[in-house]
Amino acid sequence: MPHSSDALIAALRTVVDAAGVSIVDAGLVKEAADADGRVAVTLDVGEGNSRAAIGSRVRETLLALGGVDRVDIRWRDDVPGRAIAADDPMPGVKHIILVMSGKGGVGKSTTATNLTLALHRLGYRVGLLDADIYGPSIPTMLGISGRPVSTDGKHIEPLERFGVKLMSIGFLLEDPKQAVIWRGPMLTGALQQFMKDVQWGNLDFLVFDLPPGTGDVALSLSQRVRSTGAVVVTTPQNVATDDVFKSVSMAQKLEIPVLGVVENMSYFLDPAGLRHEIFGKGGGQAVADFAGAPLLGQLPIDTTVREWGDKGTPVVQAAPQSPIAQMFIAIAERLVDTIAEGAEDTGLPTIDRSGGQGRVRLPMAK
Ligand code: ADP
Repeated sequence: MPHSSDALIAALRTVVDAAGVSIVDAGLVKEAADADGRVAVTLDVGEGNSRAAIGSRVRETLLALGGVDRVDIRWRDDVPGRAIAADDPMPGVKHIILVMSGKGGVGKSTTATNLTLALHRLGYRVGLLDADIYGPSIPTMLGISGRPVSTDGKHIEPLERFGVKLMSIGFLLEDPKQAVIWRGPMLTGALQQFMKDVQWGNLDFLVFDLPPGTGDVALSLSQRVRSTGAVVVTTPQNVATDDVFKSVSMAQKLEIPVLGVVENMSYFLDPAGLRHEIFGKGGGQAVADFAGAPLLGQLPIDTTVREWGDKGTPVVQAAPQSPIAQMFIAIAERLVDTIAEGAEDTGLPTIDRSGGQGRVRLPMAK
């Protein structure tokens, strides 16, 4: 028997917000419904609350009811948008998130893709721009090929998969490996076109999967469009962190706020549940401290991440209730919290969250 909405609301009454008031009494629960063990909840964030904190308590409470095997939270909120100049190529895009790394192979594209899908699951309108034009991996990770079409000969319609709008240089080349032989200006030209000519429409978040390192792509990008900020992906060992410090410095030089750091391949859980820190530890926190930004999460090495990526369905889409997918979802909630906090710091009337660390000042619309 599925739980009635009343039973779900009664359970949610035990969850309190930052002020200690039940989220039901505070009017934050807009909807709760159980369809065969899949509970869908729509929440408002209210004032002074963190999505990550309330989200995890709501999931925990509902999963503990028994007979519930999945909880999907949709946030119904309005995070103030980035500053949009008169000549902005994507005025309908509220937030641009740049996903960067110091070097290749750390899981940047995996993080960008799963983070995008996590934001979508949380109820936001999202797009993913594969700006890793030297090695586009989004077509493989999202199992999508084909050519974007133009209806008017001027604009390009993005492809769409799992509810996410997508654009990748991989869609335009016969052989995506071809991109490697393109010269810098051609690539940055293509990227400019992806921003200007692709019909992104109205999105809450457009995630850019940037090439690794401190290339000219980020530079030309920052001259063309004002992003909300960057998420830096690193592995825990020092070798990886050396490069990543350079990319953080570059972001800071370009006045791109670092919104947070994701440490990937942090540890491996063996079948007995023991944690092995194969690549050492502390790298993610060190980068976060250096950037003055929060460590958004630490992701383990999990073979399902690679397996699902190879099959063309990222783990957040394929197995949303798996521990690793839940970690991506928590990272997405923390990221939105950080953006909302940054907007508040710039004086916009928005979420006032206490207890946050590593506050980020963002250039927001006035
Ligand atoms: P990058 O974009 O930094 O070059 P990718 O995202 O392409 O890195 O990841 C490199 C490889 O590592 C891919 O095969 C991917 O599936 C795998 N991978 C990434 N993160 C994890 C993880 N947490 N656990 C297991 N495999 C991972």
